[in-house]
Amino acid sequence: MCPDRPAPDHSPVPVDCAWCRQDMHTAASCTDATIAIDGFDVPRTPWGCERHWPRSIHRCGDCGVLPGGFHHPGCDIDECPRCTEQALMCGCSDEARLLDLLDELHDLVDLDDLEVRPPDPAASPSDP
Ligand SMILES: [Zn+2]
Ligand SMILES: [Zn+2]
Ligand SMILES: [Zn+2]
Repeated sequence: MCPDRPAPDHSPVPVDCAWCRQDMHTAASCTDATIAIDGFDVPRTPWGCERHWPRSIHRCGDCGVLPGGFHHPGCDIDECPRCTEQALMCGCSDEARLLDLLDELHDLVDLDDLEVRPPDPAASPSDP
């Protein structure tokens, strides 16, 4: 007699989008319809309208939105509306440029050289 074993669970693990908080397997589109470039809210390219990908009738292979929906940020297939390169990689968005700027700052100021220590109670100014 075979022991009862639980059936293997093949249902996809819910992955919630960090932006819209929807489950990427069931959401039709991300709620993030624009991307900030040069201080303007530029309409994003919906899935199926990319220049580098054929028109599709299926959910996005990476982030799972339906055709016509907006990719969840971080999707490999998401196309930049400005340069039509991968939005993930091109660095056009204000957010990406801000991150680049922070990287440059990190290079200028070596944070490893700065010692950040919790306040020392023995060195408090009220101590005589
Ligand atoms: Zn989303
Ligand atoms: Zn996608
Ligand atoms: Zn771009």
